[in-house]
Amino acid sequence: MMNEKILEDFISIVGIKNVITNSKDLEKYNKDWRGFYNNKSLGILFPENSEILKKITKYCFEKNIKIVPQGGNTSLTGASVPTYNNQEIIINFSKMNKILEIDKSNLTVLVESGLILSDLKQYLDKENLYFPIDLSSSGSCMIGGNIATNAGGINALKYGSMKDNIIGIEIVTGEGKILSSLSKMKKNNTGYDLKSIICNSEGTLGLISKALLKIYPKPIDNFTFFSSYHDLGSCIKSFNEIRNLYYDKLESAELIPNLSFEVCIKNNFLKEHFFNNKMPFYVIYRLNLYENKDTFQNNFEKNFYLISNNIVDTIIPNSIEKENKIWQFRDNLVEAYKMEGKIITNDISIPLNKMEEFFNTAGNEIKKINSKIILHPFGHIGDGNIHYNMILPNTNSDDLYESLRDQIYHYINNLVEEFGGSFSAEHGIGQIKKKSLLKFKSKNEINLMKSLKKIFDPRNILNPGKIFDL
Ligand SMILES: Cc1cc2nc3c(=O)[nH]c(=O)nc-3n(C[C@H](O)[C@H](O)[C@H](O)COP(=O)(O)OP(=O)(O)OC[C@H]3O[C@@H](n4cnc5c(N)ncnc54)[C@H](O)[C@@H]3O)c2cc1C
Repeated sequence: MMNEKILEDFISIVGIKNVITNSKDLEKYNKDWRGFYNNKSLGILFPENSEILKKITKYCFEKNIKIVPQGGNTSLTGASVPTYNNQEIIINFSKMNKILEIDKSNLTVLVESGLILSDLKQYLDKENLYFPIDLSSSGSCMIGGNIATNAGGINALKYGSMKDNIIGIEIVTGEGKILSSLSKMKKNNTGYDLKSIICNSEGTLGLISKALLKIYPKPIDNFTFFSSYHDLGSCIKSFNEIRNLYYDKLESAELIPNLSFEVCIKNNFLKEHFFNNKMPFYVIYRLNLYENKDTFQNNFEKNFYLISNNIVDTIIPNSIEKENKIWQFRDNLVEAYKMEGKIITNDISIPLNKMEEFFNTAGNEIKKINSKIILHPFGHIGDGNIHYNMILPNTNSDDLYESLRDQIYHYINNLVEEFGGSFSAEHGIGQIKKKSLLKFKSKNEINLMKSLKKIFDPRNILNPGKIFDL
């Protein structure tokens, strides 16, 4: 419950229509996407611009009120919901959702941080422009959330993550000061780079109010093909061949195990398997074209022998509808998989040349931990980022599930380190990976991060209990 005087003050800052304190209406904002975390917030505020955001933060700084910044609430690490019960307010950015300026000469777009990613993409599309970041959550997640998590997604292979696609930023610090670094110049080496510090800070260093993003001319067309493989080793060899041949065009390469078709069909996200001849693994590839599609396809078919060595079968969709169906299947995978009940999720990256050995080692060891676990690894194979996920059939006991989950996280994260990978490739740390951060980052690195936090947020009011505890 929020103190009455504080509520009155908030109402005078944001207006009555921009405050929610009713516990029923707060439910969907308090709970994270997976339903792992569900602490009560004191209330939620919806600022409509940077000035109001600044006033709220200044007030919270003075009164020592903790803030959870929230975009689309699609975080998969519990980063966008309260860490504690009845101690934090949520600031939701959905009412700061304007596109402020498109600059076709410098290829930049200035937006407010609550803009939904797919809204930006659709708007630019009509202008023959392109913003490449693409996640299965694009219809809900917001630009501020994408920056705060340094989102990756299916096109990071060609275009990099959010940090590679941002040119400038405006934030409000934990003291309520606006820092604006919105120069359009890509070459701008004027001291420390604010946007790089804020990317991936998970709402702990500043509240992002505006972002200046890099945009691209829209590719003339895209070319999708979907290949099947006998084993992971063949997938990786094949990916390398395809990348070498189509390096500048290759936008996405998504690994799909056969189980994904079964999971999507079972949960009504797909009618039937795409392939007649089932194989253990598949990869969906997408190339950006800057030439006529028919001409490209003729050349592709002519040169197919150069990349066909490791491939069993390939589908080339012959209509936009069929192409969309394939990518829709990929997008639905996370939703469909969530319906399998007790799941264990990992967001790891492994160097490509070590991935097959990692899969063999991890697969064998996990079967020893619990022989009933079903492995369901999928994801962005092109940049080594795999969601090394698992399904636990018939496990009703929460205690058993949680202890197994902890045991597996511990094992996988250690193994990832041994293989020179990362235990959090694109989802961040949030609440769920705090222990691993403490284990795998050096004390010096963590101390430096904590010092930085004190400078941006001296009273620790911004997203407390995320990334690390102070
Ligand atoms: C179905 C599904 C698929 C996904 N696929 C991918 C994927 O392929 N790649 C990927 O990287 N992620 C993926 N995600 C995770 C998630 O969508 C991303 O992390 C996304 O960037 C979060 O954006 P959001 O607006 O939902 O942020 P939220 O979940 O609301 O918040 C995420 C973090 O950002 C902070 N934050 C939000 N807005 C601001 C702001 N304005 N200022 C400061 N801090 C802020 C929050 O405090 C929190 O720490 C997926 C999630 C789902 C549910």
